[in-house]
Amino acid sequence: MRIILMGPPGAGKGTQAEKLTQKLDIPHISTGDMFRKAIKEETELGKRAKSFMEQGKLVPDEVTIGIVKERLAEPDCQKGFLLDGFPRTVAQADALEEILKEMNMALDAVINITVFRELLIERLTGRRVCKSCGATYHVIFNPTKKDGTCDKCGGELYQRNDDKLETVGNRLDVYEAQTAPLIEYYEKKGLLKDIDGSQSMDVVLSNVLAALGRE
Ligand SMILES: [Zn+2]
Repeated sequence: MRIILMGPPGAGKGTQAEKLTQKLDIPHISTGDMFRKAIKEETELGKRAKSFMEQGKLVPDEVTIGIVKERLAEPDCQKGFLLDGFPRTVAQADALEEILKEMNMALDAVINITVFRELLIERLTGRRVCKSCGATYHVIFNPTKKDGTCDKCGGELYQRNDDKLETVGNRLDVYEAQTAPLIEYYEKKGLLKDIDGSQSMDVVLSNVLAALGRE
């Protein structure tokens, strides 16, 4: 199984990636992990990526694509893979297709976990953190016994700036604008599988597996 997993912040993509890679016995390839690995192993491309990152610059597509190519050529990808965080642009998607063609491979599916905006906002803005011990809670999904007070240490809870409505709204807007062309790209190729991510993690997982013909 060669799949791409997509979904906005708050859609539960991380959990699904973990469960899917276990179930399908394929490596989880996230862009962040790939970069860290290439940099740690000091590959030529890893060194180039590092120099851009150190200058606070965006790593150019050709470097990112090269790193993906190196990773997909590793033996554990023979049985398939789950790509997470790549491709991000249509140009990267085209490059991925070329890479796979060279390796006589093709994508099986692009899983797109969708969740309506109000629910994403509810999930993403509900987090609260304890000022004293750092414990995290959620006002709906994991509330404290007493409002605004940490169950563990009695400390005061606060909302991080990242979790505030305005920031969350911006993140979702950016995500939508970035991924709309990609979603259209894979839809045209007949690879896109939209999965409703508003249900429980287990239901979402079984729907993904069903869409992949694995259940
Ligand atoms: Zn606490």
